[in-house]
Amino acid sequence: MDIALIGIGKIAVDQHVPAIAASPDWDLAATVSRQGSVDGVDSYTDFARMLAERPEIRVVSLCLPPVPRFDYAAAALAAGRHVMLEKPPGASLSECHRLIDMARAQGVCLYATWHSREAAMVAPAKAWLADKTLKKLTVTWKEDVRRWHPGQDWIWEPGGLGVFDPGINALSIVTEILPDPIHLTEARLEVPENKQGPIAASLRFAHPAGADVSAVFDWRQDGDQIWTIVAETDGGTLALHDGGARMVIGGQDQTAEGPALTGEYPRLYANMARLVSTGDSDVDLSPLRHVADAFLLGRRQSVAPFYD
Ligand code: NAP
Repeated sequence: MDIALIGIGKIAVDQHVPAIAASPDWDLAATVSRQGSVDGVDSYTDFARMLAERPEIRVVSLCLPPVPRFDYAAAALAAGRHVMLEKPPGASLSECHRLIDMARAQGVCLYATWHSREAAMVAPAKAWLADKTLKKLTVTWKEDVRRWHPGQDWIWEPGGLGVFDPGINALSIVTEILPDPIHLTEARLEVPENKQGPIAASLRFAHPAGADVSAVFDWRQDGDQIWTIVAETDGGTLALHDGGARMVIGGQDQTAEGPALTGEYPRLYANMARLVSTGDSDVDLSPLRHVADAFLLGRRQSVAPFYD
């Protein structure tokens, strides 16, 4: 199937282009970006023009930041295209519900991707936790924003999510692997005095069986980067490390052999091919709902200004 890639920036170049190139399902037929392009692929700067001139491209994958992405998604759905969204699926829950309604009305597929759910050990962790009683779950997501998001001004603006941009990846794993639903009860957001988005956050959740569920996100991490989820249960302790790439149960490394995170985006594109062939949509908003709740309930604390 032909596919068009929109917003040729960091994630498009790092992950989407190689995943499409390696896929038996997809041909990258066009790109739309004001500045970026991909060698050997037709490039457009105007999305409406691409939609009008290339009716044979039935699927578009949107790699823009969340705030500008809604207008592109709405235009693609209005033009009858199947749409794949980078995470987070929107800058607000209402936007996402609007897109779900539009996709349904148009009879096309909408796929809100959560790449971290495709990390190698997320499915095994979910299977292991399925018959355990959770006592405590702790998320620690600490990375250096200068290393991972250099010069990305949008990430600090309203709708850019701040430290929840990586933090929502952790929440996408937690909501996938836990058999029971949780809801946010408390949040503390540390916001640099010259920014709109938080640089750090700590969250607490209610769990139906009373398990102690909490998360800490921090963008000021020097040295080792930490993307870890530890679940203590009646059947032992499971730890997911490296964003879901590595799993340790009771101190024993259970990680399957193979490259760490390289499978996430190929799996997303395989999922999209399946959705298009079955005519289904897949939009789980629960990670974004927890982030929205943190912004609703969060106690804000002004902290030192941040400069890139
Ligand atoms: P980025 O490089 O800053 O932006 C992607 C592209 O979007 C830009 O190159 C730009 O292309 C286009 N764009 C930016 N602002 C726009 C606007 N106002 N209107 C129209 N186009 C605009 O961002 P990214 O890091 O790739 O992230 C994009 C999305 O992927 C985000 O939702 C992010 O959470 C997600 N993601 C990122 C990573 C990562 O490691 N960076 C990992 C996983 C997921 P043109 O200027 O050429 O139009």
